[in-house]
Amino acid sequence: MESMNARWRMELFRICVVLAAMGSAAEIVIYKYDAAHRTLFLEHRLYRFRFIYIPSSLNLIIILITYFCLKSKKLSNKTKNVWACLLIYFLCANTQVIHYVYGPLLMLPCVAIFMTILFGDKRITTMSLCLSFVSLAMAARQASVELRKGDPQLPTDILLAVIVMLATYIGSMLLINYVSEQTNYILASNARQMQLIEECNMDALMGIKNRRGLDERLSEVVSGGNTAGAMQLLMLDIDDFKKINDTYGHINGDEVLIKLGDILDDIGGNSNFEPFRYGGEEIVVLMLNTGREEAVRIAGEILSEFSGSTLSFNMKIRATFSGGIAGYEPGMTPEQWIEKADMKLYRAKKNGKNRIEA
Ligand code: GH3
Ligand code: MG
Ligand code: MG
Repeated sequence: MESMNARWRMELFRICVVLAAMGSAAEIVIYKYDAAHRTLFLEHRLYRFRFIYIPSSLNLIIILITYFCLKSKKLSNKTKNVWACLLIYFLCANTQVIHYVYGPLLMLPCVAIFMTILFGDKRITTMSLCLSFVSLAMAARQASVELRKGDPQLPTDILLAVIVMLATYIGSMLLINYVSEQTNYILASNARQMQLIEECNMDALMGIKNRRGLDERLSEVVSGGNTAGAMQLLMLDIDDFKKINDTYGHINGDEVLIKLGDILDDIGGNSNFEPFRYGGEEIVVLMLNTGREEAVRIAGEILSEFSGSTLSFNMKIRATFSGGIAGYEPGMTPEQWIEKADMKLYRAKKNGKNRIEA
């Protein structure tokens, strides 16, 4: 959001510089034209001061001030937005106050009010409206004491300027509301999308990451050349799970899986311990910065907690698992690493189950 604001501020600034240059050029052309046709209503030098030198210098000063504000590292994003809006307001107001003779130019700050939509900040839009009234009052005062003194059209011009400014303000506010509603909608669907991506990597039953999450993570760890510490892969498989299903039913079998998921998830608070459901009743745990002995100790603790628990609410099911641990060796692919852990698991099963082999 901040970088987008910065880009549009600079865009607005560049437009303002071009407009200011065009304004000064137009004043010079008008001056030359009027001078050639002898229709100048002021003495030449005075005219040049009033319509060329003074307004152009003021524009240049505010352009320079705004430039330094926009480049400043100290000012906040919000303050910079205010300055960008003030610049365009000032350019409009400058022309409005100087050319009060022409009715339509009294409405010029409408452009500034409208441009505040870029930043979607209602306070800046309101500030712009208030400032527009101030400069309109200045132009009206100037007009009533100088060239348009006694002009019956002047009050109508001022009233019309007020109405058009208010209409621009209301329209701008509506557009800001509309854009903000649209932005919120996009943000919400973006958040939902992120959540869905996250859910795609989760196993709904066990509440830990799934095979897809494991594949992503292992290739990340292996390709990242994570050599900061030893890494172990624990592969575990619930013993005689088919029998548990056959004896207690599939629903109670699910509860056993949920219980194991809870135990693993509790330890998963430690960032070096990442459990994944590999498939069925097989789990893979990635242990970062963990040595072989430490991994064996952790796996043993999980096994004794799991085998010591009553695993179903309504039936006193007890279950065990077997596990195989394989350390990572440089150059191994994720598949080779899993294969190695699987072979250790096979050994644990062959050696009588309810045990860890490393
Ligand atoms: P072993 O000790 O050799 O591992 O024997 P086992 O019976 O655990 O192994 P086997 O691979 O023969 O059986 C695994 C069973 O796990 C079969 C399948 O029905 C069951 N299973 C797989 N996924 C789920 C699940 O999500 N819920 C339930 N309740 N059972 C599942
Ligand atoms: Mg199995
Ligand atoms: Mg099994």
